[in-house]
Amino acid sequence: MLDSLQNILMPKTKYIFVTGGVTSSLGKGIVSASLGKLLQARGFKVTIQKFDPYINIDPGTMNPYEHGECYVTEDGAETDLDLGHYERFLNTPTSQANNLTTGQIYYNVIKKEREGAYLGKTVQVIPHITDEIKNNFFVLGEANQYDIVITEIGGCVGDIESLPFIEAVRQARWDLGDYNSIVIHLTLVPYLKSAGELKTKPTQHSVKQLSEAGVQPNILVCRAEYPVPMDIRKKIALFCNVNVNSVIQSIDADTIYDVPLLMKKERLDEIVMEKLKLTSDIEPNLESWKAFLGKLKNPTTEVNVALVGKYVELPDAYKSIVESLIHAGAVNECKVEIKWVHAEKNQGEALMKELEEVDGILVAPGFGERGVEGKIEASIYARKSKKPFFGICLGLQCAVVGFARSVLKLEDAHSAEMKKEALNPVIDIMENQKNLKQMGGTMRLGAYNCKLKKNSLANKIYKESNIIERHRHRYEFNNKYLEQFEKAGMIASGINPESELVEIMELKDHPHFIGSQFHPELKSTVENPHPLFVSFVKAAMTYKDAK
Ligand code: GLN
Repeated sequence: MLDSLQNILMPKTKYIFVTGGVTSSLGKGIVSASLGKLLQARGFKVTIQKFDPYINIDPGTMNPYEHGECYVTEDGAETDLDLGHYERFLNTPTSQANNLTTGQIYYNVIKKEREGAYLGKTVQVIPHITDEIKNNFFVLGEANQYDIVITEIGGCVGDIESLPFIEAVRQARWDLGDYNSIVIHLTLVPYLKSAGELKTKPTQHSVKQLSEAGVQPNILVCRAEYPVPMDIRKKIALFCNVNVNSVIQSIDADTIYDVPLLMKKERLDEIVMEKLKLTSDIEPNLESWKAFLGKLKNPTTEVNVALVGKYVELPDAYKSIVESLIHAGAVNECKVEIKWVHAEKNQGEALMKELEEVDGILVAPGFGERGVEGKIEASIYARKSKKPFFGICLGLQCAVVGFARSVLKLEDAHSAEMKKEALNPVIDIMENQKNLKQMGGTMRLGAYNCKLKKNSLANKIYKESNIIERHRHRYEFNNKYLEQFEKAGMIASGINPESELVEIMELKDHPHFIGSQFHPELKSTVENPHPLFVSFVKAAMTYKDAK
């Protein structure tokens, strides 16, 4: 009776929860995205969401050293970088609803408490926090847009802060009834060199911990450096209470883009469908994915591109840029070798030395003063040497400052972010940012229109005149200087039609010098590599050929 009641109440959407144990960085995001890809390729409408157990409302206020890149969605949410993988793999946009944190959950509950939503009650972790988590598990599914919602739970099973999420998964599974949800648990199967063996004990412990919280995983994905043989799979299956065919391996791959095919080989999609009683007559069509991989792995040429930034010790800080360069490289059948150039440690001679050999210069986004002078110098060098240049957000702003100083001879030109009292603030704070008191979620965020100037480089690259791109910044090109810049050869080739804000600038007298105030890297996917990256790589190839 209860069972059928549950099924009547619940929509037809199926839910897949992905948890992780033993250690972080096992690749839950990539496995989720890969599974999503395989199910999508079978004709299902899939979305992936991430629930993070930290207290920040979102990662927008965190340092990239803490959390890697902050990924911005079309609707302006500042989110976890895994959402970038979801978009790059599935080629469908995510939104605010795809990323929740403990901070947001508590914020919602406390707001409701103040509004009197729980009048007369003691507000507690169970049921109020867990109910709030559960409701949010279902938001995307209830809109009935999706056949399958994959929910990745951040952190590790056993962490104190993960407990309410695991409890919410337990309850959600009960609410959903049989065959409407499964749990996939990622663990590590390490190889002990001295013993010459793969070890199953960490997996056993991790699953035990999950089971103690009332959640029995249906599928185990075992991350391993070496193939996991059948006898080890049997052992794991026996001690973790899962079917042998539900113990699958996730071997270290050459590229994250191999993982969907590796998961397919392990039949992950078929096992999931079986457990959720899903059927599809469509054999997954991964032809275009395979074509991309073919090009990625068989480049006919190579370029060396400098990525000038201040977080270069941590490539995760520039995740989407790196992936966009990979997509653009594959289209061009060109291996893009990234030379990481530290903008703070390298200035003057040392910086020139770093940039001398490269075929293109990309100046990265960022905040604050550290490393800015190196970025400005890099842009001046790119202009003079005629090397392809691509500035993103702060990268564009640095190119503007560099041009003002070296061509317009406004020697004290700067961005008001770095020097409030600059006599020539060629980059200035946006009017509506001036009186903001709150830091979180208040930048110019998400998608904005941009109109491209006819026959500009931008126009040629995009092959269209109206584009929409995603933003994350407080400062902007100062339009008071526009005429001066344009007269001297740096033109605004992309403008926001509603606000007149400059979104793209480029040099007229240069083979390929372009910078965007927005973040094109947030929209590059395997299926749709971003034209600005494709063209930058192509320009680097041309530069190299002419050398
Ligand atoms: N710090 C600059 C601003 O706020 C650039 C931001 C960025 O690069 N994302 O405008």
